[in-house]
Amino acid sequence: QDDQFKKVISHAKEYGYVFQSSEIYDGLSAVYDYAQNGAELKKNIRDYWWKAMVQMNENIVGIDAAIFMHPTTWKASGHVDAFNDPLIDNKDSKKRYRADVLIEDYCAKIETKIDKEVAKAAKRFGDAFSKEEFVSTNPRVLGYQEQITTILSRMAKSLENEDLADVKALIEELEIADPLTGSKNWTDVKQFNLMFGTKLGASAENAMDLYLRPETAQGIFVNFLNVQKTGRMKIPFGIAQTGKAFRNEIVARQFIFRMREFEQMEMQFFIKPGTQQEWYEHWKDTRLKWHLSLGMGEDNYRFHDHEKLAHYADAAADIEFKFPFGFKELEGIHSRTDFDLSQHEKFSGKKLQYFDPEENKSYVPYVLETSIGLDRMFLAVFSNSLQEEELENGTTRTVLKLPSVLAPVKAAILPLVKKDGLPEVARKIVDDLKWDFNVDYDEKDAVGRRYRRQDANGTPFCITVDHDTLEDNTVTIRHRDSMEQERVKIEDLRDIIKKEVDV
Ligand code: ATP
Repeated sequence: QDDQFKKVISHAKEYGYVFQSSEIYDGLSAVYDYAQNGAELKKNIRDYWWKAMVQMNENIVGIDAAIFMHPTTWKASGHVDAFNDPLIDNKDSKKRYRADVLIEDYCAKIETKIDKEVAKAAKRFGDAFSKEEFVSTNPRVLGYQEQITTILSRMAKSLENEDLADVKALIEELEIADPLTGSKNWTDVKQFNLMFGTKLGASAENAMDLYLRPETAQGIFVNFLNVQKTGRMKIPFGIAQTGKAFRNEIVARQFIFRMREFEQMEMQFFIKPGTQQEWYEHWKDTRLKWHLSLGMGEDNYRFHDHEKLAHYADAAADIEFKFPFGFKELEGIHSRTDFDLSQHEKFSGKKLQYFDPEENKSYVPYVLETSIGLDRMFLAVFSNSLQEEELENGTTRTVLKLPSVLAPVKAAILPLVKKDGLPEVARKIVDDLKWDFNVDYDEKDAVGRRYRRQDANGTPFCITVDHDTLEDNTVTIRHRDSMEQERVKIEDLRDIIKKEVDV
């Protein structure tokens, strides 16, 4: 697992997808730059989301709100008071950890014990083995599950009651050690606010304290009435937005999974109070379908329903994805009630209500939110696509099987040799196709090596121009995944590529 993840990170660098930020100064932790291919992949993911959410839905519109917002926004939203992580320091190693993550990791270890029991039993019982039955009846497994539930619910309760002493007590009772040094010498648990502060204004006395937004959602809430009125939107309707968000994450590891500066793609759907259950189901279903439409394997997704709810929610679920380090949250679907709009009414003194012509009355709408991290989606797509294949001739190839619609470069045009007029014909094809697709021209090295390079880069098609092309205007088109090659007319290339990369 670790090895696979290391391969993902080094491949992302080697092929111009993701670089460590400010690398020449030894980098900045949990901050990353998207390189030439990464920026394209990221843009394609964003476009794929935008198309599904905004373009395809008559009742959803998109906005682009500023990162800076009036500071009262974050008082109203609850972020100033409640957007905290519980931290604990190890006195010996001087390392800082999130107390909840230490406890969750402890439970994850118990979960691997369950997996082992299941694997052992599957081997023993063979065809007669039913996982569900085994898990629900085996005393050892049941014991492990109970242990996990007891630990997690105690932690949830203590965090909710701000009983940080009990969180520490739990860590001590479980004898959780510093993962790096093994030391069990812990400080007290403290709350730490995740928002980045900054200042607006030139002179010290007039400067206003601001925050970099920790989520894009609030830019939608404060614009709710403006959009509703100017767009003449009728409930139910949605407002979507993509953009940067900032969090001073403490446990910043796992590459672009958890960053300090990242991008979100969020949609707030405004509904009539009382209909939230039905819309919650609708958006869970719709968002899962969006993921599945990329063809990355149904088994790689699962829902995780939250038992512990954030202060604003009455129901919440995550869509989890199987990352190289296990199933983790990729997207959240939250039923936020009228919490945010009501809070903004309270703090701004402005009415944020919708007049419902059918009911002939005004109310504060309820909200259903879908929130996905663009960078996390990037990691899901990239890590799932990177594969090593054994070929029939005994060699292996590294291939990045990106969904074609998301691939940075759709086709590479390769003259077989650098002479006899082949480069000129290849250039002409590039000049023609580039109006519709991002294409590459590549003439260096033997054609087999160029194929491998494009495979590793994730390019769905290679188009080779050879001497026959000069005679009959046909080229060889090679498919990345099947490696099959066919002879086609130059004039048909556009349609062939379009069919595969368009949604
Ligand atoms: P986590 O539990 O992983 O910290 P969260 O529950 O705080 O995430 P939300 O506040 O619901 O996350 O944010 C919505 C989405 O934004 C997440 O599902 C995730 O995809 C993304 N996201 C949140 N924090 C980060 C981060 N630090 N880096 C990258 N993506 C993030």
